[in-house]
Amino acid sequence: MQHQNTLAYAQDLDNKDELRSFRSQFHIPQHAGKDMLYFTGNSLGLQPKITESYIIQELNDWKTYGVEGHFLAKNPWFSYHELLTAQAADLVGGKPSEVVMMNQLTVNLHLLMVSFYRPTQQRYKILCEAKAFPSDQYAVQSQAQFHHFNANDAIIEVEPRAGEYAIRYEDILAAIEMHKDELALVMFSGVNYFTGQVFDMKSITALAHKHGIPVGFDLAHAAGNIQLKLHDWDVDFAAWCSYKYLNSGPGSVAGAFVHEQHHHNFDLPLFAGWWGTDKKTRFKMEKTFEPIAGAERWQLSNAPIFSMAAHKASLDVFSQVPFEKLTAKSKNLLSYLDFVIGEINATQPEGKKFEALTPKEDSVYIPKGIQPGCQYSIIAHGRGKELFNALVKEGVVPDWREPNVIRLAPVPLYNSFEDIYRFSETLKALC
Ligand SMILES: *Cc1c(COP(=O)(O)O)cnc(C)c1O
Repeated sequence: MQHQNTLAYAQDLDNKDELRSFRSQFHIPQHAGKDMLYFTGNSLGLQPKITESYIIQELNDWKTYGVEGHFLAKNPWFSYHELLTAQAADLVGGKPSEVVMMNQLTVNLHLLMVSFYRPTQQRYKILCEAKAFPSDQYAVQSQAQFHHFNANDAIIEVEPRAGEYAIRYEDILAAIEMHKDELALVMFSGVNYFTGQVFDMKSITALAHKHGIPVGFDLAHAAGNIQLKLHDWDVDFAAWCSYKYLNSGPGSVAGAFVHEQHHHNFDLPLFAGWWGTDKKTRFKMEKTFEPIAGAERWQLSNAPIFSMAAHKASLDVFSQVPFEKLTAKSKNLLSYLDFVIGEINATQPEGKKFEALTPKEDSVYIPKGIQPGCQYSIIAHGRGKELFNALVKEGVVPDWREPNVIRLAPVPLYNSFEDIYRFSETLKALC
């Protein structure tokens, strides 16, 4: 596609966009009487307009019924989490029995590693991507230490090659091969939070399984962004948050996936709580834990209803769109963003050009057939935080990572091509 750097062209793309009506289903924050140029849906997604009514429903039922709301509320709280399962499972490509919404992301990673990181003296290492999100690094380090291993020795990080930003996919596979006899777990993100690199979860899982190594993914930047097929890919476990691309509000309830093949393995160790025991006998308050044969076994506590109500609202928005349409629009948004950045670069002196960190599809980083998501990270060479501050002053909301990386996520549900055009005009003026 030959793009043009004009407002009329961007508006024309918006008019032709099948998903354009979704923007009006969200509250877009305002700046000086105009819609902000919000590009941080990968950090905190925007609020769907229907969310408020979903939360008010639960507040009212609480007002009306008190504790009886567990059974008498319009959506009984006792089983509220079950309302989310089918749609959440759909988003990650799992069967309903494989998915449960519960807790927070890092909590879920820990709970799942308790079951799937089972180190022995010979096999105790965890393979991860270098520069994973800090919480994930702390989680794997502390899991290794919990089992009395030295984290520096137990954790193997696959790094980008010198001078590169993303990890070559052949290097990930080679690392699994090289360490196959000492690995107890492979734990990667689905999409790297910093570079936006999408990992080939299917191939990573297949190779690790060939060597008897379980595989888990952190899908914080993948869920709601790229199409996932966790069941078909045979992934052992996964966890994700719902406040980034899933638009469910700050700190909202997280997701967990446990593959069906493990549901009847009652020998898996786990940290148990009363919400993981059989529903029929749960309220008998007996001493014996009767594990549920499904992902719900990993639940500990009764559900945070207000967060879940916000998540239900968001899932009801997602359910209106086939995922392929989201990824197709993401691709077009990124293509346009890449174009306008290129136009700005053409006017900038050497040493002050913007460089994309995010690898492209069908490259040494992302194998053919794997669709990139909607994140675009750029290095602002020769510039510092003052550029970011100036953008914010103009009503742009990007994400800044020291020393000079700008992360932008044009989200297909609510960002427009005009947003990108206006962003490029603002950036150009500031340069
Ligand atoms: C956002 C994010 C987190 C945050 O963890 P919480 O437990 O939700 O606070 C963790 N890991 C990754 C990869 C993330 O992107």
